[in-house]
Amino acid sequence: MGQARIRIEKAQCVGNARCHAVAEVLFPLDEDGYVATEGFDVAPGDEALARRGARSCPERIITFLEETA
Ligand code: SF4
Repeated sequence: MGQARIRIEKAQCVGNARCHAVAEVLFPLDEDGYVATEGFDVAPGDEALARRGARSCPERIITFLEETA
């Protein structure tokens, strides 16, 4: 299994914090309430939570990527 990643089209975030409500550690918010990261490597064991966070975004700007290395 390859390294999973989350990619976020941060510029399109509308700041409704749905991702943060699912996983506040994975999806931190900035001081204005918008998602504060453009993506990250998903730590082993965090895959399910990261997927749930991605699904929670109504703007569909969070993508779960899994490399098949
Ligand atoms: S759920 Fe989507 S739109 Fe809402 S704060 Fe997170 S990234 Fe932004």
